Amino acid sequence: MQGTKWVFITGGVLSGLGKGLVSASIGRFLQSRNYKVVPVKCDGYLNVDPGTMNPIEHGEVFVLEDGGEVDMDFGHYERFLGTETKFDWNLTSGKIFQSVIEKERSGDYLGKTVQMIPHVTDEIRHRLEDIADNEDTDVVLVEIGGTVGDLENMIFLEAARQMRLDLPEENTCLVHVTLVPWLESVGEQKTKPTQHSVKELDSLGLEADIIVGRADMELKKKTKEKISLFCNVPEDNVVSNPDVEEVYKIPLNLKKDGLDRTVVDNLNLTNNATDMERWGELVENLENPTRKVDIAICGKYTSLEDSYVSILESLKHCSAHLECRINHRFIDTTDIEETEKLLGDADGVIIPGGFGRRGAEGKIEVARHCRENKIPILGLCYGLQLMVTEFARNKCGLGDANSTEVDEDTEHPVVDLIPEQKDVEAKGGTMRLGGESTEIEEGSMAKDIYNKNEVKERFRHRYEVNPEYHDILREHGLRLSGFSKKEDNIVQIVEMDNHPFYLATQFHPEFKSTFEDPSPVFIEFVKSCIGD
Ligand code: GLN
Repeated sequence: MQGTKWVFITGGVLSGLGKGLVSASIGRFLQSRNYKVVPVKCDGYLNVDPGTMNPIEHGEVFVLEDGGEVDMDFGHYERFLGTETKFDWNLTSGKIFQSVIEKERSGDYLGKTVQMIPHVTDEIRHRLEDIADNEDTDVVLVEIGGTVGDLENMIFLEAARQMRLDLPEENTCLVHVTLVPWLESVGEQKTKPTQHSVKELDSLGLEADIIVGRADMELKKKTKEKISLFCNVPEDNVVSNPDVEEVYKIPLNLKKDGLDRTVVDNLNLTNNATDMERWGELVENLENPTRKVDIAICGKYTSLEDSYVSILESLKHCSAHLECRINHRFIDTTDIEETEKLLGDADGVIIPGGFGRRGAEGKIEVARHCRENKIPILGLCYGLQLMVTEFARNKCGLGDANSTEVDEDTEHPVVDLIPEQKDVEAKGGTMRLGGESTEIEEGSMAKDIYNKNEVKERFRHRYEVNPEYHDILREHGLRLSGFSKKEDNIVQIVEMDNHPFYLATQFHPEFKSTFEDPSPVFIEFVKSCIGD
């Protein structure tokens, strides 16, 4: 902990400005200077983790190697930094209050009145300090969720204030991300919202060292001067974060406008930057594709793209590495009649993960259509379960085959609860979660894709292909090419010969795809959509 540097990232004016991407970008610059970084996210909500939240409300639930369920920002951190993050690096009010109350009940504060300050703030600070100690890291990036002024995030801001007071000045840096709107009627970038949010921050005892202005274009010189004057930061520390089409461009833009240099100057860090040339080349590939494919994503959370962000980002990684523009189209499978029509002439189809009955029959229809018409299809988790259901119905002649998640009374439960899940009642953090090893069958497409006999990928499910149906599925041509290494008999990959690409995984390869090291499953799938 001693000597660890801390970067606090706060947000002003409104939420959704991309603080997570700023945090991930700062992490990536620091990595390029050979510093070890750990990203931490503080969330004000009272859920212990976002695992029980509806993806349409909160975006995708990202699953970590250690089984933690966290929010989308962790996906950005991993995709930018290429490092595995941990559940403990997500501090939620739910986790903090739960442990303070547990400590109170077990008598740890005996005699004391338990208060927000110091008990709750101490809990936050101890957790942050433990992370710095356990990870032996050079820099901890602490993103504080929400917007300055929100009641629920106050306690994290207060902990940050205390730390900034106690630590040497050059060990902490505060980056405040705000919105700088363009007002068409006067033809000007307006700084007042930024000024107000900086005042709000000041009133909490926190002074911004660097202001990142999110705008639809670069900040004008005049805008920077004004923010500098009114918000009490040097002009060089006001950085433009213009809208981009590709989020991977953000680190390049922020670096160009000096964020890299201002952060290291503030923290008195001396390593020189190694370049980010490869990153730049990949961004250029993204911006100048030489070919294109259309991919349909068939799910039910299609009203919010953020519910499938890891899949979309994995496709972006393929774009950058294969120099190919990928046009994706969401198809809501709730209306089965429409499904086939909507698929149109898609070059490939993804059936993503999901839960529950709604949209399941539509996905089964899509699976049939792709199998019969030899359209590349990739099934992920629920996608695998429904592709197997379709196969059982239409190839094995098991007419009403189903997952018991959809129909508890089906005569042929080809997909059923994993036995250990049968007695589980609580919903939070109780699925089969996190990184598990898969043993891959020799001679399979999966083996060609990974070029390994064993891979570790991440899971989030309660159901599995029912072992009683393995034989009949095999007899009719479904290859069960990956099995769990640890648990008996859990199918983790299925595929089919004589098809350009028919593969499904019980795991989510999208959680391990990074910009610089994309998922081989996605790469091979996209290649087959291109016809490579
Ligand atoms: N609903 C399915 C299960 O629980 C699939 C989950 C998923 O797609 N993540 O097994």
